[in-house]
Amino acid sequence: MDQIMIGKFIASCRKEKKLTQAQLAEKLGITDRAVSKWETGKCLPDASLMPELCEHLGISINDLFNGRRVTMENYKEAAEAAMLQLKKNEEQKNRMLLILEIVIGTSATLSFLFMVFVASLIPGLPAFFRILILVIGFIQLAVCIYFALKIETKAGYYKCEECGNTYVPEFRDVVMAMHKGRDRKMTCPCCGKKCWHKKVMSK
Ligand SMILES: [Zn+2]
Repeated sequence: MDQIMIGKFIASCRKEKKLTQAQLAEKLGITDRAVSKWETGKCLPDASLMPELCEHLGISINDLFNGRRVTMENYKEAAEAAMLQLKKNEEQKNRMLLILEIVIGTSATLSFLFMVFVASLIPGLPAFFRILILVIGFIQLAVCIYFALKIETKAGYYKCEECGNTYVPEFRDVVMAMHKGRDRKMTCPCCGKKCWHKKVMSK
């Protein structure tokens, strides 16, 4: 999805309807800054706003995604291009999430090791204080691992090697599963076999 092109398209449709950014914003119950952000290609309208926006602009959602009016002749090609772009956006989002997971996991582990180091090697600390540092270190590690695993569950899909099914597992199953890197040994909800499932970015 080309955000700049979509932005320009929204602006030109709005002008055709003789609306200012503020008037369009008011109709949608949002700020004119949000409209300005769409039109300059900084962000896309929320999916929940799209139907109403398209109605006010007199265009279809398909037109909006393509950043131009889609005719019967180019309809199929335009729909395919929009689908492909959605898929690319999803893959990119999932890659970013998985990078975030690595950052969270690594920084939490390092700060835990640092606290263990402080608690055990710095001379002269009262025992109570050493235990407190260890407990805090352990809690922050546990919280970060929880969020990292949440991300790993929701970002992308797992693919069953047996039947090729791609799916999003339950958080519980991800936590309980054995893993090698991001591959996890889980039971496939489609074929029911227990085998190694690989992380993939899209269906
Ligand atoms: Zn399967």
